[in-house]
Amino acid sequence: MKYLFLILFCSQFYSAYAQYPQDYFRNPLDIDLVLSGTFAELRSNHFHSGLDIKTQQRIGLKVYAAAEGYVSRIKISHYGYGKALYITHPNGYTTVYAHLEKFSPRIEEYIKQCQYQKETYEVEVFPTPDELPITTDEMVAFSGNSGSSGGPHLHFEIRDNAERPINPMLFGMDVKDSKKPLISGIYAYPKDENSHVNNSKKRVELRLIPNKNGDYSVESVEAYGNIGFGIVSYDQLDGANNKNGVSNIQTFFNGNKSFEMDFKRFSFNETKHINRYIDFEIYKTKRSRVQKLFAQSGNTLSMLKDLDNNGYLIVEDSTSSVYKIRVKDFKDNDAWITIPIIGKKEVKKEQEELNDIKPLHFAYANQVTTLEKGNVSVYIPSNTFYDDLHLDFNVSSDTLLMHKDVVPLLKSYTINYDISNYNDVDKDKLFIAELVGYYQRPSYVYTTRKGDVLSARTKSLGTFALQSDLVAPTITPVNFTDGKWMSKSSELKVKIADDLSGISNYRATVNGKWILMEYEYKTGVLTHSFDDGIVTDTENKLKVIVTDNVGNSSTFEATFFRK
Ligand SMILES: [Zn+2]
Repeated sequence: MKYLFLILFCSQFYSAYAQYPQDYFRNPLDIDLVLSGTFAELRSNHFHSGLDIKTQQRIGLKVYAAAEGYVSRIKISHYGYGKALYITHPNGYTTVYAHLEKFSPRIEEYIKQCQYQKETYEVEVFPTPDELPITTDEMVAFSGNSGSSGGPHLHFEIRDNAERPINPMLFGMDVKDSKKPLISGIYAYPKDENSHVNNSKKRVELRLIPNKNGDYSVESVEAYGNIGFGIVSYDQLDGANNKNGVSNIQTFFNGNKSFEMDFKRFSFNETKHINRYIDFEIYKTKRSRVQKLFAQSGNTLSMLKDLDNNGYLIVEDSTSSVYKIRVKDFKDNDAWITIPIIGKKEVKKEQEELNDIKPLHFAYANQVTTLEKGNVSVYIPSNTFYDDLHLDFNVSSDTLLMHKDVVPLLKSYTINYDISNYNDVDKDKLFIAELVGYYQRPSYVYTTRKGDVLSARTKSLGTFALQSDLVAPTITPVNFTDGKWMSKSSELKVKIADDLSGISNYRATVNGKWILMEYEYKTGVLTHSFDDGIVTDTENKLKVIVTDNVGNSSTFEATFFRK
């Protein structure tokens, strides 16, 4: 019996601390690990799936394979990960390296062959294990800033054989962190009509009082019924100012655990539930991410553990309780928040709020909703929303008000515009735009046309309008002019732009042969490298064709010489 207990204890210990191979994967750079982003930290519409490793504000640092294996996937895209490399290892894990500047010569040659064969910059290939084997410590790429990256860094991931990203720190990768997590906001949430916090049936912000030791307290609250709490937290590592994510949050009600969020591993198909986990309305209106320490319907995040009453506490009348929140970083530095709670059933009658008139339209979360007015119809599939919802919906002169962008959506819905009242010439140039930000800037939503109906699918609520794009894209040479000698240049660069609907595609040829031009959307620059060996003649006729999202097209032609 004693031994059995010991075995059970050991196996638990084993699963918690050594489930992942230790020191199998090396630091993919040859500089110390300093992070600008941690695993599972909160990003827009997703949890961050890896580590963002700082590269000293530079691009071009050598990136090494974290272990031996083979290149199992290469993906190059304008947005997202930009240039990304996937290496699968004999132990079943795959490491991912993203936002790269370029690959090592051997891999670069392999992928360029694919690009020239398909005549596109964006490609995705899955080499077989014998095509690009990788040895221990092999240099596989150079770090960069490609794709949706806000500055030079290496995005590094470790995924298991089910494609689930896991915190690389669990594999023994180490960073310096001696500081406690920081808490910058706390909110209380009465769950229903029968509960309240400080006389409010709605979310209330509470005042955080920082203590000298890095913990926090909150003045005692009066409450009754089912209530939950939410916090704004972040962590800072040594040697960097970046606000990173924490690694674990637990709550205790009168000493009993009621909630845990453990940021160790997740699946890509659940990452969207971040919009249910955070207070989406606060995020959309104040850009602050309040993590709700309770689970509402539809929040199926596997990182949630040990939920008691879904993380809500039940506060009874005439009681005195203590609620504690513990926020940890990966190095087990922890910050505690203590909230004394006085149970008090009686509530002063809240003033009826005059502006609390509910909109007319109602959507049941588990049913299809269709809305129609004027020339606009909207189709919302069932289970688009987490909750039933009063929808603010209106149409006036081609502008569609689809509620406010403060409600998270689980899937896309469809907007249809009848354009039969437009004349035929104009119809071709119309698209559906979302009007975003304070200035209501039109942002293209992928639009298709069937006869006289324009359709767009979107995953956000907000204001939409028909827009017309009559202007073709612009194409401007960057490092040459017509008739120039370019023998000393290693690259050919042109800048492309479109003012309204945006660029849909581009194509460049020299003397009729397709040339690879890499598109960097952040600068709008297309770059061809003469190292590709395509430009071999002395006199070269360059032709670049750029098309926008409604089909307006521009052609740029120039002659350059090379010897
Ligand atoms: Zn990243």
